[in-house]
Amino acid sequence: MSVPTDSKVTFGHRFAQELPEMAVSWQAEQAPEPRLLALNEPLAAELGFDPGFLRSPEGLALLVGATVPGGATPVAQAYSGHQFGSFNPRLGDGRALLLGEITDTEGRLRDLHLKGSGRTPFARGGDGLAAVGPMLREYIVSEAMQALGIPTTRSLAVVATGREVRRETMLPGAVLARVASSHLRVGSFQYAAATGNQDLLKRLADQAISRHYPDAAAAERPYLALFESVVSAQATLVAQWMLAGFIHGVMNTDNMTISGETIDYGPCAFMDVFDYATVYSSIDRGGRYAYANQPLIAEWNLARLAETLLPLIDEDQERGVTTAVAALEAFRPQYSGAWLTGMKAKLGLADDVDDEVASPLANDVLTLLQENHVDYTSFFRGLSSAVRGDARPARDKVLDVAAFDAWAARWLALDPDADAMDRVNPVYIPRNHLVEEALDAATAGDLEPLERLVDVVTRPFEERPGLERYAAGAPEDFGKYTTYCGT
Ligand code: AMP
Ligand code: MG
Repeated sequence: MSVPTDSKVTFGHRFAQELPEMAVSWQAEQAPEPRLLALNEPLAAELGFDPGFLRSPEGLALLVGATVPGGATPVAQAYSGHQFGSFNPRLGDGRALLLGEITDTEGRLRDLHLKGSGRTPFARGGDGLAAVGPMLREYIVSEAMQALGIPTTRSLAVVATGREVRRETMLPGAVLARVASSHLRVGSFQYAAATGNQDLLKRLADQAISRHYPDAAAAERPYLALFESVVSAQATLVAQWMLAGFIHGVMNTDNMTISGETIDYGPCAFMDVFDYATVYSSIDRGGRYAYANQPLIAEWNLARLAETLLPLIDEDQERGVTTAVAALEAFRPQYSGAWLTGMKAKLGLADDVDDEVASPLANDVLTLLQENHVDYTSFFRGLSSAVRGDARPARDKVLDVAAFDAWAARWLALDPDADAMDRVNPVYIPRNHLVEEALDAATAGDLEPLERLVDVVTRPFEERPGLERYAAGAPEDFGKYTTYCGT
């Protein structure tokens, strides 16, 4: 069933209708004084919303969940999850609601979801709220990821609620309107499996196939094909994170999608100086979700997904395990293949350059960056100049110039394409010091730095005069950066 809103967008309720055991009808808390902080007009248009409507009082009411589009029933979704390795059977949307699914202007089904909309039955000890800073952070980083070509949930809007949120200090509250191709997670499958209701598990898997991997429906073994598809999507996704220097920060199984979109931008950050061991999250004391661990963790999470699917993969459990293990073994070669393809592109190498040559070249340059504490993004962007005859932009960042020169001689001998490099190596990423600056200003009421930063990072490959400070590494006095989860 679909219901029209004032802006002629209609909402479906496929999740709630097909999976009622995993959906709790719920209402958002009232927002005393809604004020629009950010609106993604191109995304609004893709969804069929009139941006003028979304800016109106009725539009803001929809974006904070205060009014529900006629007849729609927002739901909090149930899911489980392994958090830092330990299983929690009942997580779910503690502070979020799924308003419903929208068919966008290209006919794709997309979830509209609110985060920070008040306590739900899954809130446990939480207040159900979100502060302006973290919601704008998700907005900036997810839109930067999209512009970098990395699969991600999207941010439609951030609306300040006019309600204060108690954290270490009192902070202004906000609701983020998030758009995703779905909110089905590894944790959703863990929830369905833990209920022991095989019919529910099957309906969930069927919805995942129908929404994300319709080809799997025609496969000889559809549920095995579903698993193989998720393995591939996650292998490519995490390879893209690694190539961009992105650290998710909290890769719990409830924060890993079935679609292969990046989700839940909490303590995430882009790396400045290259270091395999980088961790930003204040709660990740053991470094479980460190930069270099991300592929291993993705594989671990996929093993948890496989466990949930076993009864659908084969009625004989032992045979099912053998089949699932074999399917999971595809992760490593797929990840490595995607990573090396991406590294060859970053280095401007033609497809026919042998992997046996490209792979050590790529690993050696990363070792050089690690040993010399070099800024990852600006080094790769600067490298194309070396092809054009001026090595300084990259070379000047490396203390051990002899090592750089020796590496560059090997690389230049392969005849890299400088223009191709500039199309894949970004000039601008949401650097931590710039994000913090924009969030501090927005929290204090000044939206200008935020708007400028969003403009810069959503056109990441195009060098523009006057934006030099956005391309530079973190200032020396920025120090060790720490991010906070669930804030
Ligand atoms: P996250 O680390 O953001 O993925 O959240 C993990 C779990 O904690 C999810 O079930 C969230 O809904 C819940 N959660 C996070 N923050 C809050 C909050 N302020 N109030 C209620 N639940 C929350
Ligand atoms: Mg989460």
